[in-house]
Amino acid sequence: MRLELEDINKARPLNSDMNDYDYDVVIVGAGPVGGYLSRRLTENGITVLILEEHAEIGRPFQCAGLINPKAMSLVQLENTVLTPIWGARIYSPEGTLVEIGHEDKIRTWSVCRKLFDEAVVMQGIESGAELWVSSKPIKLEITNEAVELEIRTPEGTKNVRSKMICGADGAHSWVRRTLRLGRPKETMIGMQIEVTGYQGVEGKLDMYTGSNISPGFFAWAIPSGETTRIGVWSQTKYIGDESCEDLLIKLMKTGKWSHRFKDCKEVGRFVGSVPSGILKKTTSRRAALFGDAAGICKPTTGGGIGPGFSHIDLIIEDLVESINKNILDSKELKNIDKKLDKMRKSQNRARGLRDAFLSQSDDKELEEIFKIWAKPEVISMINEVGEIENPIPLGTKMLKEIPEFRKLAGKAIRSVLWS
Ligand SMILES: Cc1cc2nc3c(=O)[nH]c(=O)nc-3n(C[C@H](O)[C@H](O)[C@H](O)COP(=O)(O)OP(=O)(O)OC[C@H]3O[C@@H](n4cnc5c(N)ncnc54)[C@H](O)[C@@H]3O)c2cc1C
Repeated sequence: MRLELEDINKARPLNSDMNDYDYDVVIVGAGPVGGYLSRRLTENGITVLILEEHAEIGRPFQCAGLINPKAMSLVQLENTVLTPIWGARIYSPEGTLVEIGHEDKIRTWSVCRKLFDEAVVMQGIESGAELWVSSKPIKLEITNEAVELEIRTPEGTKNVRSKMICGADGAHSWVRRTLRLGRPKETMIGMQIEVTGYQGVEGKLDMYTGSNISPGFFAWAIPSGETTRIGVWSQTKYIGDESCEDLLIKLMKTGKWSHRFKDCKEVGRFVGSVPSGILKKTTSRRAALFGDAAGICKPTTGGGIGPGFSHIDLIIEDLVESINKNILDSKELKNIDKKLDKMRKSQNRARGLRDAFLSQSDDKELEEIFKIWAKPEVISMINEVGEIENPIPLGTKMLKEIPEFRKLAGKAIRSVLWS
């Protein structure tokens, strides 16, 4: 299924009969989260205009393309899957291997992000949303009665009046900045190249740790059909003057695992931010933020699509009701934002676990952790309780049941156990 963008760009004339509003909602950003939001709103009878600044959906993409089963079940886009992922090989800095997973249980899907994003947006369009590509807002005014937007389009500047604006415009969200809605708790930088010739195992992703290749986080190699996505992510506070590209070069050229990369030929590269830590306030009068714009990526894996979809499902009923009643003041929307508190808490706990087990451990401590993880009984526990989507049950069980971990995790454990 491909979008006929030229047709889409022939915008329908603005409707002046809808109680003075051209649309109920304008969504800025036609990424996966904007696309999914447009479908959930339109299937509930809300009229939606989506603005996308690029001429194409899904380009440029900045993602390892892993979609968890729950998110996949919401959009049912198995046709975009390149490789089902059922296992992982995780390496300590010195090379201790923790191998998890079984072919019987698919843990996540490696998809073609271009096809995935296009298809999610297409679901919104088929459900009634209108999409303007090569179009972005340049001026925003919000009054008690309406949202007034000035939009730059290929046909010139247009003015649109709506009940509400939703920012699904990614990590550097224009809507978030314009409305001064703050910043996510932390922002990681990720760099990824797509290669042929990597020596991996079909269906298994590889994760590499170590302060020289991905300080505080991990590097990855993810099978994606005929290619493999090789990436690193970290934070500036950990990498100092180095760039993610420097780290990637070390992983591939000089690191312990360089032999696996010796035949690699690069076919694409992407650099991007991973904003994690849901904003204190995702809403304000007649406005709400979603996806990366709201800082929704998971602190443990950087995955943003699954939690982005979950956020929408969590609030959609209340949001539709408020839009229909046209009660969209700050107080009303704050009540909707409060529904995210459980997700915020869960993200904080996951961050605490990540810090305890990974980010705040030096290489020597990581070796100790891996030695325990590599024990057969612990691998069984990981296979049984471990979930990419929700690492908290596994992490908590480990902290409670494996005495060696108590002394390793220190302060961070308390935030995990008691927060
Ligand atoms: C290296 C790396 C690997 C990652 N791997 C994964 C992974 O495996 N799985 C996963 O779930 N997540 C992953 N992520 C995170 C994931 O890419 C994001 O969480 C996800 O794309 C968020 O979707 P979104 O729709 O909120 O934002 P985006 O995908 O960023 O989409 C925002 C859209 O808004 C448009 N836009 C921006 N500003 C404007 C404007 N002013 N006007 C109009 N349009 C605008 C953009 O062009 C874009 O189309 C990764 C991120 C990085 C950097």
